[in-house]
Amino acid sequence: MSVAVEFDKEARFGPEFRGFWDDVRQGRLSFPRCRACGKRHWYPMKRCPHCQAADIAWQPVSGRATLYTWSVVRHPFTEDLKARVPVTIGLVEFADAPGVRLITELIDLKPEEIRIGMQLQAVLPTGNEPCPKIRFRAA
Ligand SMILES: [Zn+2]
Repeated sequence: MSVAVEFDKEARFGPEFRGFWDDVRQGRLSFPRCRACGKRHWYPMKRCPHCQAADIAWQPVSGRATLYTWSVVRHPFTEDLKARVPVTIGLVEFADAPGVRLITELIDLKPEEIRIGMQLQAVLPTGNEPCPKIRFRAA
C-alpha cells in the first residue's frame, strides 16, 4: 500500500524528472546544465531558459547550499504529514549552481537555530526508497 502511494508521488513529477531521481538513487544530486551556455536551471525543461538551446545534460552538484528562506509547517496538509508536523521547509540555493533553488525539508535544526544565509548540506536518502527525499541539515 505505502509503496504504491510512493510510486504515485514519483509519477506526479513526470518523466522530465527521471534523471534527477536516477542520480539521487546513485547518491548524487544533479541539476540540468545547458551545454551551449553552461548555465544551470531548475526545474527540468526541454530547452534552456537562458539561451533556448536543446543540448541539456544532468550534472552533479556538491550538495552545499545556502538557506534562502524557510518556514515551519504545522498543519498536516497530506496524510503522511500527520505524524510528522511540525516540519521545517526551506528554500535553498546551491553554492555550485547559482540561481538554482530547491524547496526541501530542513532536519536536525531547531527553529531558533535557523538563519537565512546559513550553510547547509544535502542529505541524500540511502537504500532503494521508491520516492527518495532530499533533505538538508547544517553544514
Ligand atoms: Zn543555455
